[in-house]
Amino acid sequence: MAAAWVRLCALVLIGVSSGAALAKDKTPTAIVVGGGLAGLTAAYELQGKGWQVTLLEAKPSMGGRSGLATSEWIGNSKTQPVLNQYLERFKVATLPAPEFVRTPSYLIDGEYFSAADLTAKQPATAEALKRYEKTLDDLARSIDDPLNPAANSTLFALDQMNVSTWLDKLQLPATARQLINQQIRTRYDEPSRLSLLYFAQQNRVYRNVSDRDLRAARLPGGSPVLAQAFVKQLKTIKTNAPVSAIVQDKDGVTVKVGAVGYQADYLVMAVPLRALAKIQITPGLDNQHLAALKGTNYGWRDQLLLKFKNPVWESRARMSGEIFSNTGLGMLWIEPALKGGANVVINLSGDNARLLQAFGDKQMVDQVLIRLHAFYPQARGAFTGYEVRRYSTDAGTGGSYLAFGPGQISKYWRLWERPVQRIAFAGEHTDALYPGTLEGALRSGQRAASQVQELAAGKSFDPVKAAPVAAAAAGAAAAKGGFFSNLFGGSSGKGEQAPAKTQADQGKPGFFSRLFGADDKPETKAAPVAKAEETAPASVPAPAPAQAAPAAVAKEEPAAVKPAASKPAPAKVAPAHKPAAKPVHKPAAKPAPVKKATAKSEPAKKPATNSQAKAG
Ligand SMILES: Cc1cc2nc3c(=O)[nH]c(=O)nc-3n(C[C@H](O)[C@H](O)[C@H](O)COP(=O)(O)OP(=O)(O)OC[C@H]3O[C@@H](n4cnc5c(N)ncnc54)[C@H](O)[C@@H]3O)c2cc1C
Repeated sequence: MAAAWVRLCALVLIGVSSGAALAKDKTPTAIVVGGGLAGLTAAYELQGKGWQVTLLEAKPSMGGRSGLATSEWIGNSKTQPVLNQYLERFKVATLPAPEFVRTPSYLIDGEYFSAADLTAKQPATAEALKRYEKTLDDLARSIDDPLNPAANSTLFALDQMNVSTWLDKLQLPATARQLINQQIRTRYDEPSRLSLLYFAQQNRVYRNVSDRDLRAARLPGGSPVLAQAFVKQLKTIKTNAPVSAIVQDKDGVTVKVGAVGYQADYLVMAVPLRALAKIQITPGLDNQHLAALKGTNYGWRDQLLLKFKNPVWESRARMSGEIFSNTGLGMLWIEPALKGGANVVINLSGDNARLLQAFGDKQMVDQVLIRLHAFYPQARGAFTGYEVRRYSTDAGTGGSYLAFGPGQISKYWRLWERPVQRIAFAGEHTDALYPGTLEGALRSGQRAASQVQELAAGKSFDPVKAAPVAAAAAGAAAAKGGFFSNLFGGSSGKGEQAPAKTQADQGKPGFFSRLFGADDKPETKAAPVAKAEETAPASVPAPAPAQAAPAAVAKEEPAAVKPAASKPAPAKVAPAHKPAAKPVHKPAAKPAPVKKATAKSEPAKKPATNSQAKAG
């Protein structure tokens, strides 16, 4: 009897240990949703660590958001270390950038100015730009840690304000204000839709980073070339695979694409928030995540590539690089024209893009040509064609990239850095330091891959606690030397009062009066189209062009792109966009047939030619 018992125990033990060995030896599996640079990085890093990875991409081609640019200007390894590491690893060639693109310049009423020209020829504007930059730098340096921008109640209060209100207080001359507005909307979004704290935090991140380092080299072919380098490394990619639902349980995740299901141990979700909002997740996300999906502001940006028989501008140098115009034309780039001719990429951003939503592509191009023609009369005659990419209304992105609106840092700061059960999140919008950039996307892919490995090793990610607003620190920050003078560019004279001591103070009458000498309420400036908190691009009703407000004051120059009066109004004004379908975070009605992502190794798909438009 005793011997039989021992034999049984021995058998059980052998069974247990071999089972454990099996579990240990089993290749861990992951599904990555989204084939932009964040998803590609996560898939590549996990595969490199021995994981079996299946990448699912909704579109026919890989690479996600890539501009029309056929060559991109990129930062050096000092400013974009992760990007440069991958470029080196994959032996993707870059070229040193020509000097003329390395610093921003200006196009004022059609006349080109380098920074030096501006100082010589328009000293008042140059002086105002300097004053703005100094004030902004003071504001940026008020943030000690860009990873914790709302570290005290004073900084927390900045999140409740928009950038436009802050600019108003600087009382800049009209042209300077127009150029600054254009710079901000091109880099982020319309100043009236941008949290002042977010703007300050981003300027803190890039503080002391020279423009020359940020545009140190050219990447011929643009970021799609890097995406293709990742694609070559990956074993299992499925394109045309839009994920519609995800179910996670204690054993793993099941992902639904059409009628097909894929299973894996863990998942990296690397799609923009607007796209994520359309995916059913079971169990459902909590209210904070749902609110972030719905409300987080993205910048608006449309890109037009205009093609000409020959250059209609006086010199290539004068239309290349980051050029800010006061006529709403946005940032301009001269692109290499692969098949002869001359191409220029024009970015329409912020309200300039919003105002033109009601236009068809051709009408939008016409509007831009009218403006170019005013400066370059040969433009119409030499014009041969165009390509348009509307990021603003692309269902896959729902905007250009993350640009926190007023109050949104307070609510959603680093929310997506935390995995939810078996899902880790990646994408430019999940990177706290470099959102809206290739660097941010790559960094987020690396972070998500590490988190998935940590999850597999048994780590649990506790909910992020909102950074406590350190009341004591508020006083310290204010005492640090003229914080509120810094905010508005005044002198940090003696007797300056620290206006807020505790978070509770913010609700008290007088706080904002003291801050601005004006309204008591944190002002979210009425934007021409929608309130900052309601800027989910998909749900923003586009104004009919005819209703565009006249450009009454300098800061309202989105009206610069107001349909040109000389142009007949478009015959048909597209209806305002309907609100996006509400995300349903319920179990899928019918479980899909399940395919084991791991069981069958899909042939490595090389979604070969990327479908990005090539200039030419
Ligand atoms: C106009 C413009 C100009 C820019 N210029 C620069 C620049 O000069 N320098 C710079 O550093 N950065 C720039 N950026 C930002 C940079 O392009 C992005 O930060 C980066 O490409 C984002 O990568 P991502 O992987 O996070 O997202 P994405 O590239 O958007 O990838 C997400 C992928 O998910 C896919 N997807 C969506 N829904 C689903 C679904 N349901 N199922 C499966 N797949 C899905 C999408 O099709 C997409 O391929 C620019 C962006 C824009 C829009």
